[in-house]
Amino acid sequence: MDPQRQELYEVCQRNGVGITVMKAFGGGDLLSAELSPAGKALTPYQCIHYALTRPAVACVMAGARSMEELEASIAYETAGEEEKDYAAAFASMPKISWQGHCMYCGHCAPCPKEIDVAAVTKLLNLTKAQGSIPETVREHYGALKHKAAECAACGACEKRCPFGVPIVENIKQASRVFGA
Ligand code: SF4
Ligand code: SF4
Repeated sequence: MDPQRQELYEVCQRNGVGITVMKAFGGGDLLSAELSPAGKALTPYQCIHYALTRPAVACVMAGARSMEELEASIAYETAGEEEKDYAAAFASMPKISWQGHCMYCGHCAPCPKEIDVAAVTKLLNLTKAQGSIPETVREHYGALKHKAAECAACGACEKRCPFGVPIVENIKQASRVFGA
C-alpha cells in the first residue's frame, strides 16, 4: 500500500474515524489478470474482504454495471472464509512483494490460544506508527478476548502466514507494549 495512504488509514483508526472505501475493484482492473497492476486477477469477494480488513475501514461501496455484478458483491455477506481469503492470491502476485508485511488477512488462524493475530498485529502497528498507545487502540486491545501474553510461542501461526511475517516476535512485542 502507498505509505501515505497507509498513514491516513492508521490516523483514522487511531482517532475513531470510519472510512468508506470506493473503487475496491480498481474500476474493474483488479478483477482482470491483464489489467491488474499486480499481474493477477482477484475475485470480488477478495477485493471487498481486503478493503474491509484495512485499519479504520467501516464499509465498501461496491460499484456495479449490472444486476449480476451487484448480486455478486452482495453475496459477500454470505460467502465462506475460504472464498474471502485473499492471502494466497496476494502472496503469489508476480509484480508486488508483501514479504514481512502483515496484510491482516487472518490466514494464520486458528491459534490454539485463540489469539486473534491479525487484530493484535494491527493494533501493534498502529501503536508503533504513533509512538505511544492511542486511547482507541488501548480500548480495542482491552476488548480482545485473548491477549498476546497468552501466546505459547508454538509457531503454528508463522507456518501458515503466506507473507513471512515474524508473528511470534510481533506477539511478544505486543505483550510488552500493551502489558497483557
Ligand atoms: S500474520 Fe500473516 S497470516 Fe496472519 S494476518 Fe498477518 S499476513 Fe495474514
Ligand atoms: S505462536 Fe502464539 S499466536 Fe501463534 S499460534 Fe502459537 S500461541 Fe498462537
